[in-house]
Amino acid sequence: MRLRSGVFASSCLLVEALGVALFLRGFFPLPVRSLPRSEARRDPPAEPAPPGSGMVSNWTKIPPPLFKKVVIVLIDALRDDFVFGSKGKQFMPYTTQVIEKGTSHSFIAEAKPPTVTMPRIKALTTGSIPGFIDVIVNLNSPALLDDNLIWQAKTAGKRIIFYGDDTWVKLFPKHFVEYDGTTSFFVSDFTEVDDNVTRHLDRVLKREDWDILILHYLGLDHIGHMTGPNSPLVGPKLHEMDNILKKIHISLLSKEGESSLPNLLVVCGDHGMSETGSHGGSSEGEVHTPLLFISSAFEKRSGPLTQPKLVQQTDLATTLAVGLGLPISRNSVGNLILPVVGDKTMREQLRFLHLNGFQLSRLLQENTPAYEKDPGYEHFKIAEKSHGNWIKLYLDGNNSEILLNLGKKVLKQYLEALKTLSSSLSKQVAQYDMYSMLVGTVIVLEVLFLLLLITPKALSSRAEFEVPLSPPLFSLLFYLMCLMLCAVHVIVCTSAESLCYFCSMSWLTAVGVMVLISALMCGILSAIGKILESSRVPVKNPVVSNSSWSEVDVLILAGTIGHVLSLGASSFIEEEHQTWYFLINTLCLALCQELCRNYFLLKEGDPQHSITLKQSFDNVKEAYECKNIDIPAAGDSKLGKVTSSAEFIKGSDKWISLASPWIILICCRLLRSLNQTGVQWAHRPDFGHWLTSSEHKSELSFLAAVSLVMIFILVQRKCSLVSKIAMALGLLGVYSYRAAIGNIIFPWQRDSKDISKEIQMALLLWMFQQVLWD
Ligand SMILES: [Zn+2]
Ligand SMILES: [Zn+2]
Repeated sequence: MRLRSGVFASSCLLVEALGVALFLRGFFPLPVRSLPRSEARRDPPAEPAPPGSGMVSNWTKIPPPLFKKVVIVLIDALRDDFVFGSKGKQFMPYTTQVIEKGTSHSFIAEAKPPTVTMPRIKALTTGSIPGFIDVIVNLNSPALLDDNLIWQAKTAGKRIIFYGDDTWVKLFPKHFVEYDGTTSFFVSDFTEVDDNVTRHLDRVLKREDWDILILHYLGLDHIGHMTGPNSPLVGPKLHEMDNILKKIHISLLSKEGESSLPNLLVVCGDHGMSETGSHGGSSEGEVHTPLLFISSAFEKRSGPLTQPKLVQQTDLATTLAVGLGLPISRNSVGNLILPVVGDKTMREQLRFLHLNGFQLSRLLQENTPAYEKDPGYEHFKIAEKSHGNWIKLYLDGNNSEILLNLGKKVLKQYLEALKTLSSSLSKQVAQYDMYSMLVGTVIVLEVLFLLLLITPKALSSRAEFEVPLSPPLFSLLFYLMCLMLCAVHVIVCTSAESLCYFCSMSWLTAVGVMVLISALMCGILSAIGKILESSRVPVKNPVVSNSSWSEVDVLILAGTIGHVLSLGASSFIEEEHQTWYFLINTLCLALCQELCRNYFLLKEGDPQHSITLKQSFDNVKEAYECKNIDIPAAGDSKLGKVTSSAEFIKGSDKWISLASPWIILICCRLLRSLNQTGVQWAHRPDFGHWLTSSEHKSELSFLAAVSLVMIFILVQRKCSLVSKIAMALGLLGVYSYRAAIGNIIFPWQRDSKDISKEIQMALLLWMFQQVLWD
């Protein structure tokens, strides 16, 4: 069967896309999910029934709220050491004082990667662990449909006010009685973005018509992205946040009457930042955020703060649900943070823990077929039983030491059970669907192999080729392989413990994929067979076959393979530039050697030389053809003609090609000095840092101007007058934009205080550009 190259290529592309999709589906497992929230309005469980008959607890409803008003201050990219470390002591004096001597509980909340804002907001409000798939939908965040704290609060009639990052507004549309979203798009904006939140504060704090106030400050995150965690801008920003916290705390305290419930102030970060100021990964700085609960309900702390306890970020949703008297979100894997309810009676504490355990074990039931064997589930059942015994003692009116000790024991059992349940639920999220990944990988690799074997033929002048299928032998192989793969599929899918995407597809689709894999395999085998067959034909021109692999080819191949292999280790990824420096230098050296040999060392008339020369001549010819410059057709096989046409590469061209590796090397050395520290040593001084520091703006401006002028001079030669003007204006716009965001300065302007004016100017220029492009 003959096939056009185009048809073959597009079918390969389709199959490749299928393989990649299957792999990605396995690589990004769906988070553990419970039923949709509309179907999930079941009544809360009652207290565990005491053993024996007759006695029933009357605690069947959700416990009433513990706090009246709750203010959540989320400071984006707030790292734990910004509050608990030396920076906190220096720049956040009020918060530090509250942490050390006030009525507060402080923790370090661990965020699970990806440490990106939207998945973190989801984790904070739903208590579940969003997978990496949430990063992909991070930019056009749709409304959050899972059961979550905000939805529960709204359903319970709480009035919620929100100011800050507009991701919240997109995630929770129509949930807030009042909101003002600020966009996180302008990363170089450190002040306005936070002032837009704070300007509402005084007015809202005076009012009484709200129950929950959520503030999400973005400024610190922006500072991190632009200048890193050690920038001089971080201190003033932390101080600004400290003043805001002070204002809110004092106002909340003044609102508390004698009879009403206490208020609660929660301070948290969605994620931290790395040493370079970015986030998304799992380094310690990125995952550790502070979590403070401040309320007059807590006991006053005495003595200095020891190292805060580590909790999970997902624990906040559960704890707040309990604090607000709401049902715990159904997908939450969080544990109640016990110290927050530590001053309640033993019966209440046990009740809270039982509700939490019940919710977690139900989530486990819905996601694991063999949930009864899970140690967490077993622990919970044991704890529930002892809880029943405790209630029997309690209802009997027993008030002795025994009751207290048993209560403490049950508490411990519950905490143990919650921990185990959470960890086995979290493990499910982190589990890859290996089988789907494997099938996807096999498909992708098979297509790649097939392309590798067939491409030389497909690219030949006729643009079509024989599909390598020799029927009699391969049809048997094909059927055997199909049968075997189907058997493997059945075995894997019946023995799998966790959910597998590929197994959940209909059997017809699965068989189709198996057929595809077998067909591709047979195609590869027969292609290999054909190549072997043709290689048995004696080689007529040994010289050509010898010179088909030059040193540069070998180097490029080995370098590529080596580079790919090096990416298996995280340190090599973090310091990848070192690999690049090494490879580029080596490549330049090899190129230089090859060029020198071609031009100087090999004598004319030497057959080896003529062939290499012919090759390099062909390359040059190709390059010239790309530029549409007419070159007389060169002779094909006669050596005399080749050497004569090689005279084209004389004079200046020869010297340019000889000098180019050295020019590239010099450029590389210059580029290297811009950033030689990589990720690990990013805080060390560098030429790049020197240039971007605010003291060397004039040097940077000069460099930027010179480079832009150079670009103009180099490109303008082939342009018409209109495009020349357009390009000049565009480059001017680039300069103005850089000047407007404060990286460089205009030559006539020494003082760069008035930023808003510059932005206006940049906007004007930008609009001008748009008009021109249209
Ligand atoms: Zn963030
Ligand atoms: Zn960020």
